[in-house]
Amino acid sequence: MKVTVIGCTHAGTFAIKQILADHPDAEVTVYERNDNISFLSCGIALYLGGQVADPQGLFYSNPEELHELGADVQMNHNVLAVDAAHKTVTVEDLTTHEQTTTAYDKLVMTSGSWPIVPKIPGIDNAKVKLCKNWNHAQALFEDAKDAKRITVIGAGYIGAELAEAYSTTGHDVTLIDAQDRVMPKYFDAQFTDTIEQDYRDHGVQLALGETVANFEDAADGSLTINTDKGSYQTDLAILCIGFRPNTGLLKGQVDMAPNGAILTDDYMRSSNPDIFAAGDSAAVHYNPTHQSAYIPLATNAVRQGILVGKNLTQPTVKYLGTQSSSGLALYGRTIVSTGLTLAAANQQGIKADQVIITDNYRPEFMPTTEPVLMSLVFDPDTKRILGGALMSQYDVSQSANTLSVCIQNNNTIDDLAMVDMLFQPNFDRPFNYLNILAQAAQAKVAQA
Ligand SMILES: Cc1cc2nc3c(=O)[nH]c(=O)nc-3n(C[C@H](O)[C@H](O)[C@H](O)COP(=O)(O)OP(=O)(O)OC[C@H]3O[C@@H](n4cnc5c(N)ncnc54)[C@H](O)[C@@H]3O)c2cc1C
Repeated sequence: MKVTVIGCTHAGTFAIKQILADHPDAEVTVYERNDNISFLSCGIALYLGGQVADPQGLFYSNPEELHELGADVQMNHNVLAVDAAHKTVTVEDLTTHEQTTTAYDKLVMTSGSWPIVPKIPGIDNAKVKLCKNWNHAQALFEDAKDAKRITVIGAGYIGAELAEAYSTTGHDVTLIDAQDRVMPKYFDAQFTDTIEQDYRDHGVQLALGETVANFEDAADGSLTINTDKGSYQTDLAILCIGFRPNTGLLKGQVDMAPNGAILTDDYMRSSNPDIFAAGDSAAVHYNPTHQSAYIPLATNAVRQGILVGKNLTQPTVKYLGTQSSSGLALYGRTIVSTGLTLAAANQQGIKADQVIITDNYRPEFMPTTEPVLMSLVFDPDTKRILGGALMSQYDVSQSANTLSVCIQNNNTIDDLAMVDMLFQPNFDRPFNYLNILAQAAQAKVAQA
């Protein structure tokens, strides 16, 4: 069985390892257009901010490892075309520019995503950079040395992390977003008000509610970013406004979502049973809505990659879906979310209610404690938990994972209010703060 894999970052690396573990006789060939595999982009901000001193630690595999496992690893090879009807791929060796066409029995599309680059005048200016892969990370690291002013465009998770990182390395940072809050997809204003104040306290200029109109070279050699409301001089701009699936190779050949994400069944099979997709190239099953969605996260990529291997010849292990659980640390705060916000539920026509409370994570008689700001979104009729968020200077990241499991398992606020959680004053109270959050939701339902 000839298996061709297109793209080898997370979904590709995990798929190849699982395919070779479960199907030792498979002839696996992987084409990767870059010269590296398995780079953890989530470490870029940590590297730029100086927390990760050795960026080589951001790779967890390499071509040699996959080769030793039995894969034919073709680095610096770009797949130019896929002919699904004849089951062939046409590939260019980026070193020799030689093109070859080869046949496959199973195709694994782990070609990922690429940053969205809108058609804004001047966007191709050399001072406007992207932030996705190892090459970008190296360029940003080098360029930041000569840049005093850095502007991050897009205040989602990635832009938020980059703005924080550069504000700790002596740069003058501006964060621009068309939305009037940072990270509005994940957090309510009670959360983002504090986050925005943290940015201001660290000298970050926030230009929220502003849409970039164009980029121009300035007379002093810097870059001018004109928005619909103002003008910003900068030495370096980084575009972080989202990602688009890299699936043009299969356009018209398999079913896709409107944005081009490949639609798969629970076993990662596309509408063509010999073509699998995983990671940022594929749509996910979003458990809070039970719909398919585009959520490009490494969490999904590694899980789906493994499932490709397990389901390659017959459907064996189902994809559990995702809650889009994610988190970040900004200025000493842990900020985490899972599932739907109230606004997202409303936008999708899902009946939902919400409580937002603050409670200390452990008793006041302890030498220290920290407040935890918490949100819980739930269906007021069925009481099913739909989403949640937490923010604290205490590390509450694993509590988002608990909420994630609750959503996955269709638990209700009644379940969470009383579920057994450890108690010891070092860690929490007789009721853990998540129990208390759900009890607040119960009280709200009882009053309605
Ligand atoms: C700055 C940043 C921070 C992030 N932080 C987090 C985080 O904290 N947590 C989290 O869960 N996720 C995070 N993500 C998202 C995560 O990195 C992606 O979801 C993940 O990289 C997806 O992996 P993938 O293998 O599906 O796709 P990709 O990483 O996009 O890799 C696809 C690969 O396919 C190759 N390729 C594409 N087309 C071809 C072709 N035609 N021929 C040959 N090769 C091809 C590409 O070169 C690439 O190597 C972050 C992303 C960024 C950019």
